[in-house]
Amino acid sequence: MTPAEEVSVGCRVLAAHGNADLIWGHLSRRDPDGKGTWLKSAGHGMEEITSDRVVRIDRNGTLLQGDGRVHLEYPIHTEIMAARPDVGAVVHSHAESAVAFAATGLPLHPVGHEGTLFWPPDIARFTRTGDLIRDRALGGEVAEALGDRNALLLHRHGLVTVGPDVPTAVMTAIFLEKACRMQLQVAAVGTAYDRSDEAEALAKRARCYAPAQLEAAWAYLVRGLPPTTAR
Ligand SMILES: [Zn+2]
Repeated sequence: MTPAEEVSVGCRVLAAHGNADLIWGHLSRRDPDGKGTWLKSAGHGMEEITSDRVVRIDRNGTLLQGDGRVHLEYPIHTEIMAARPDVGAVVHSHAESAVAFAATGLPLHPVGHEGTLFWPPDIARFTRTGDLIRDRALGGEVAEALGDRNALLLHRHGLVTVGPDVPTAVMTAIFLEKACRMQLQVAAVGTAYDRSDEAEALAKRARCYAPAQLEAAWAYLVRGLPPTTAR
């Protein structure tokens, strides 16, 4: 698969699993030859993304390949990749459950499997602004808030997840949306709730999300993709 094909498949998986927001939200992949970043182009929903709707850009957002428009929030991707050589793919979405959960200010606790990927310690957060991450300085601050973690809640805005490759970054976004959604359901009941302690959470993180498990889950997600709605 080419990098553009990887981004297009990842976008369609995200759209099918809780991370769609009309034409907003995006996925990127580091160019394997070090020639910039492959990023979903602007103007289409993630479920509409084909490989010709993926562009290659440099750190300043300059278009290097492809003829689509560049998302305003490209610095989220390019600045995280500049700060984190281990990161090969970045997701940014406006997943509703993540936005709603961030607004509660509650720590994200593992009430099911998914939360163990994000706690302990509590998930990283970016609270300085809920506005668009539209320049390199803000992108750098987001990268700093992410630190060495796999995910970040952008308060009043959305989520960011990263991974060494597209499948990991995409599945981490799906798991984060689900973890947030489940804890919102629990919080709505208003009672004390059961959750993993630190030892159980760390053991489950290793067991439930081992590489072979993630590989099989990714194959399942790709098999189940609906036909592209591109037109
Ligand atoms: Zn955004």
